[in-house]
Amino acid sequence: MAPNHGSLLYEGKAKCVFRSDQDEKVFIQFKNSATAFNAIKRAEFEDKGRLNCQISSCLFELLEKQGIPTHYLGVADDCWMVAKKVEIIPLEIVLRNIAAGSLCKETPIVKGTELEPPLLDIYYKDDQLGDPLLTDVRLEMLKLITPEQRSTLENLARDINFSLKLFFNQIDLILVDFKLEFGITHDRRIVLADEISPDTCRFWDKRTSDPEARILDKDRFRQDLDHVLEAYGEVLKRVQGACAKPQKCL
Ligand code: UDP
Repeated sequence: MAPNHGSLLYEGKAKCVFRSDQDEKVFIQFKNSATAFNAIKRAEFEDKGRLNCQISSCLFELLEKQGIPTHYLGVADDCWMVAKKVEIIPLEIVLRNIAAGSLCKETPIVKGTELEPPLLDIYYKDDQLGDPLLTDVRLEMLKLITPEQRSTLENLARDINFSLKLFFNQIDLILVDFKLEFGITHDRRIVLADEISPDTCRFWDKRTSDPEARILDKDRFRQDLDHVLEAYGEVLKRVQGACAKPQKCL
């Protein structure tokens, strides 16, 4: 059941953000819609919103316990998260532990190559421009963040990767790569925002070596493979088995 939310603040491809009765708190609704290739490919998956909301909530709680500041306050219902209101920094921080996806399309690096240290790529979050990869100089020119904020953000992203990689390894999932977004709270603090889910991460199942069966993320949708929801459900089952139940918050 939807919580008692206020007006719509923002609608994205996978989530809607609503006002609450407090200025610094929002309700985030996770949608069932899936998009890929800059929204050229679209579909609806019944229950995807709940799966992503619950997976993200468990992971945000895990990171909070490890001292990572996030926007997360709690879950309100199956597909509703309660979060601090933030101004999203229009950058997508991608951490790569294993080469896949665009890295292999754009370079001769072979899919499956281990990247040590992990590769951190920064993209400009702009659908109309197709989220371009930024160079150091272009990032400086854009002046979206100060050099201090950049190093805070990169250090946080690397710490998050370190924690999540270990966590997923314990539940037999390889964290291949993932995308993070950060926001600035009303008291000007940088916190992890958005979501961490099979929509935004690549997970390979360590329990099988079959190159298609091991995919437990949005690549199943991108590549027209079946059992998309079952894959997301498997990720939730393993995450919940290793985490505390997310905190209810209204
Ligand atoms: N990613 C995302 N949103 C984006 C772009 C990428 O969540 O707009 C995630 C993607 O799911 C993968 C990682 O970031 O886990 C790296 O994506 P990549 O650059 O390889 O691009 P893709 O192959 O998705 O085009």
